[in-house]
Amino acid sequence: MRKKILVVTKDCDAGEVIYKENPAVTVLDFDLQEKGTHCTHCLRLIQTGIAIKLPTDRFNSVYCSKDCLAKSKAQSQGLLFGLEPPVPLGLSLGMPQQDTTAREAAQSAFVDYIKKNGKAVPLLVARFIARQVANETLKLIPNAVGAQPPSDIPEAESGGYTMYDHLERLRYLDVKAPEEEIKIVSRVLSSALPGLEQFVTEERHATLLGKMAYNSYGVCFGDGRDDKPVSAERPEDVEKTRTPYGTSKQIGSALYLVSAYASHSCAPSTRPSFSSGTSELYLVANRVLKKGDEITVSYVDSTQHAGETTTDARRRRRMELARGWRFACSCTRCQSELLDNPACADGEPIQKDESKIEEPFIMNESPSGSLDP
Ligand SMILES: [Zn+2]
Ligand SMILES: [Zn+2]
Repeated sequence: MRKKILVVTKDCDAGEVIYKENPAVTVLDFDLQEKGTHCTHCLRLIQTGIAIKLPTDRFNSVYCSKDCLAKSKAQSQGLLFGLEPPVPLGLSLGMPQQDTTAREAAQSAFVDYIKKNGKAVPLLVARFIARQVANETLKLIPNAVGAQPPSDIPEAESGGYTMYDHLERLRYLDVKAPEEEIKIVSRVLSSALPGLEQFVTEERHATLLGKMAYNSYGVCFGDGRDDKPVSAERPEDVEKTRTPYGTSKQIGSALYLVSAYASHSCAPSTRPSFSSGTSELYLVANRVLKKGDEITVSYVDSTQHAGETTTDARRRRRMELARGWRFACSCTRCQSELLDNPACADGEPIQKDESKIEEPFIMNESPSGSLDP
């Protein structure tokens, strides 16, 4: 039997919001980032004429409000794409004068790389590292001049769990970190604050990339959009996010520290919804749930499309799961469809779960979505 990772702690009606969660880090789809139509922080659609811009921002970011601008700057944007001292004033005293030219060059190289590479995952990783730096410096001097509370996710940090405690427990894919990317990210960090480059070792960077690839959700408003540029990459290389609406419908990608634990099911007990029109995730019950029932979501569009047979739909979603998350689904729906029609097993991905968890937790009650008996 598969272990239950996340469960509901009380009975819920179908359609009930089980919890709401703000993301730890977000990345707007790059076509929208370029157009300046959505808030870089909360991903909200911005009404014409009210966008707020930070003149020094190297990533051409716009915001829906001063609050979003302040949070974004404090959490990661200031460190990655700005020139102000990355730590509160009280801490920066006694630090060497920063080399502004080197910092500008490092940031420009990073922006160029992001645009060329076209993937959200490297930026999610860089933002995550920057947020950790922000959290740590705030702990050192919480009342420093210029200190901004970087956190708008107290619920995810309660119980003494830090962002990194959660991240450590999440599953990840074994991916290779491109050498060029490691160099570029490392230069952005070290040019802001010498010493930060130690966060970007090859192994560490690869693990973070694999965590973001496995755990990020697609942020999707309503039924989603239809104008997301189609990737020219091979289907197995196209970046995927967890979303029952399909990654092609999303406006951005985000990591949620609690929802990341939710296992996949093709007959999911819940679904993510973004009904506030921002990246705040509302987890909605798909059916009546009893206390202790497992929270599952569908990582892919698991509906049966018009013109598709049950077998076609089953094959499509399982192929997508194998490509994006590298496991062969063994959920109740997949099993019962196979019992009904043994022929639908033909041409199926045969691999077992190839995602990983970090060493110290393998011995414990691991947050395992593993398919091993
Ligand atoms: Zn906003
Ligand atoms: Zn399934």
